[in-house]
Amino acid sequence: MLEQHYTAGGFTHAYDRNGYEWDVGVHYIGDVGEHPTLTRKLFDYLSAGQLQWAPMDDCYDRIFLGEESFDLRAGKAAFVEEILRHFPGTEEVLEEYFRRISAASSAMRTLLMEKLLPGWTQPGMALLKKLRLPEYLNRTTLEVLREITDDEKLIAVLTGQWGDNGMTPATGSFIIHALIVKHYLHGGFYPVGGASKIAETIIPQIQAGGGEVFTYADVEQVLVENGRAAGVRMADGTEIRAPLVVSNAGVFNTFEKLLPEQAARASGYQRRLESVRPSMAHLCLYIGLDATAEELGLPKTNYWLYPGQDHDGNMQAFLQDETQEFPVVYISFPSAKDPSFQGRYPGKATIEIVAPAKFEWFEKWSDETWGKRGEDYEAYKEALSQRLLEHLYAHFPQVRQHLDYYELSTPLSTDYFCAYRRGEIYGLDHDPSRFEQDWLKPKTKIPGLYLTGQDIMSCGVAGAMIGGVATAQSILGLRRGGALMKKIMSGSVAPEPALG
Ligand SMILES: Cc1cc2nc3c(=O)[nH]c(=O)nc-3n(C[C@H](O)[C@H](O)[C@H](O)COP(=O)(O)OP(=O)(O)OC[C@H]3O[C@@H](n4cnc5c(N)ncnc54)[C@H](O)[C@@H]3O)c2cc1C
Repeated sequence: MLEQHYTAGGFTHAYDRNGYEWDVGVHYIGDVGEHPTLTRKLFDYLSAGQLQWAPMDDCYDRIFLGEESFDLRAGKAAFVEEILRHFPGTEEVLEEYFRRISAASSAMRTLLMEKLLPGWTQPGMALLKKLRLPEYLNRTTLEVLREITDDEKLIAVLTGQWGDNGMTPATGSFIIHALIVKHYLHGGFYPVGGASKIAETIIPQIQAGGGEVFTYADVEQVLVENGRAAGVRMADGTEIRAPLVVSNAGVFNTFEKLLPEQAARASGYQRRLESVRPSMAHLCLYIGLDATAEELGLPKTNYWLYPGQDHDGNMQAFLQDETQEFPVVYISFPSAKDPSFQGRYPGKATIEIVAPAKFEWFEKWSDETWGKRGEDYEAYKEALSQRLLEHLYAHFPQVRQHLDYYELSTPLSTDYFCAYRRGEIYGLDHDPSRFEQDWLKPKTKIPGLYLTGQDIMSCGVAGAMIGGVATAQSILGLRRGGALMKKIMSGSVAPEPALG
């Protein structure tokens, strides 16, 4: 495994600075509680059971529409009960809503199967999808929800996790909305020891299987010889030969940068990239506090602050004029969620605040060196940081006097550290058109080159992991792939690394 960053894990990596540690792309993960889900079984398999999960508060997400707040509670019954408290008489709406959520989640099996079958099965699959899948599956979330209720406030609450996929209700596919709602319905969980435990517990299993993980390993090009992927050339010129190359760098990086231009053009991928769009970019304020989460009363609940119920209107206004209200401010309290944090960082706490931003607002500094982008860049960042901090203080005034350190990441940081050239937060946009792209699948048209990660199925750590499963199945084929899945589903774990 070749990773260009100084640490492994992609968006699941954590970093430390000035005596604090923050995660960059893991605030909560669903479906890893005690009930046996595929997600949990995969994590157990990949980490040999070493990855532990700490449950968040029963209220995992708190949605604020202006001053009014709504709790999303773990378990369908509690979730429904809480929504009914705010929206009495909507039992039938919620019943239909969850019927559609379940139908969309179940449809993923068919969509996954489609990605593994050879191209000649496409017409048959298209027919099967038409007959078997609900017609609302891949319309926008707003369209689908407006079919079942005309209560715009209820819609705003039910779509109050839109930041988890970066698509406002009028722009995102109902598929991704349903996947995310279902993913967290039984509660949110956080890796004990922080997000970096994900890579830390999985790397030994990769090594046990004869693999190796290299950091500072920047792949410059996928080598193509006689029309076949033959290995990679690193930025320092080293060539690594391999019978198979699997790219987890996202489809834009893979087909715009890594594949030789001639191969990208001839295989049609260059043109296909025109049918997908990069997801939105974001800011993240990383905060260090000189008191504990307990002393400060920080919750194990994510806060979603919206200026009002018109998610789409608020987003549009902001994208056109950055001085407008942030359309969403998401606040996460990692040190409160991680039971091991106090042992590792006594007397301290951390908070992260995420908000959307446009890459273009930062583009003029993109050629400057990291850490030396100049005073105007720093001043711009400082102004944004202060705006975000005021949102935090409005809900947690007690943290103001304990603020010890903060720093803001911008879309340029996402490019610099995670190699998303337009600062994308979630790879590709999850609009309805993305789910129509039959080329977003593991096996590419270039023999020996496979794709994996979040661009295959969906964003999210679990979504990217299922992308990995799809790629493994595609490479192994029906018999060996089936045997592997059987092993995973039976609850067995990957072998422990050999000692010595
Ligand atoms: C702010 C934020 C918050 C999030 N919160 C959550 C959350 O709470 N829960 C959740 O489930 N998901 C969350 N996500 C989404 C989740 O982190 C991602 O969807 C997922 O980790 C993507 O995994 P991936 O393996 O597809 O891609 P990545 O994790 O991006 O991995 C791709 C890797 O490829 C490397 N790479 C690229 N080009 C090259 C090259 N040329 N040579 C070598 N290496 C290269 C990159 O450095 C990167 O490490 C969040 C994401 C962000 C940004």
